[in-house]
Amino acid sequence: MSHRLALAALLALALPTALAQSTAAPAPSAAAAPAAVPAAFTLAPLPYPHDALEPVIDTRTMQIHHGKHHQAYVDNLNRAVAADPSLRGLTLEALMARMSTLPAAVRNNGGGHWNHDFFWRTMTRPGQGGAPSAALAAAIDRDFGSLDKFKAAFKTAGTGRFGSGWAWLIVGADGRLQITSTPNQDNPLMDLVAERGAPLLGNDVWEHAYYLQYQNRRGDYLDAWWQLVDWSVVSQRYAAATAGKRG
Ligand code: MN
Repeated sequence: MSHRLALAALLALALPTALAQSTAAPAPSAAAAPAAVPAAFTLAPLPYPHDALEPVIDTRTMQIHHGKHHQAYVDNLNRAVAADPSLRGLTLEALMARMSTLPAAVRNNGGGHWNHDFFWRTMTRPGQGGAPSAALAAAIDRDFGSLDKFKAAFKTAGTGRFGSGWAWLIVGADGRLQITSTPNQDNPLMDLVAERGAPLLGNDVWEHAYYLQYQNRRGDYLDAWWQLVDWSVVSQRYAAATAGKRG
């Protein structure tokens, strides 16, 4: 299998099926076109109450982050897709895979929608996230030396991102774990990023993610955030991303 094919297979396995574009909510169309009716992207409810991540992330931040910021990405993505008939019916994952050819509004808002949905599902109540699976723990040890060294390197990526963006843990095309960082709402699924791969976890280092509680102390937010990481979810993503890659 070529690297390109391997990456495509890896990405397909890692993609969250919950993000497939809904077919249940067709957008209004001016005419009764025979072609497939475009489906709107929608904001899913948080998988937990707004106060579930206290005291690591405060309730007000969650309300604004999900209800205002994420909602705006969804709304603006729907506008951008509606403006270009060639994009109708494409899943979010299909948009990511051809992002280098798409307008900035799709890149910023499509990325914003995917990233935040992924982010919400990466977290759980403080202390409830368990530990990495044996397979993931072994890979972390192999590629970073230890879980603590991985966390330190991830923090460096998060604090080192100038301005707004994300820090990621991905599985690269070679099957190895890698820490990356992207600006704005770019993510490792986009064909235009230098370091592509299957995301296992990602932390939002935009100020809107932490400013009410942590102000300028991004490093403190990155440290505290580990209390929220749902390692069962991350481990499942790792298993999906590496299925069939060994042997
Ligand atoms: Mn955000």
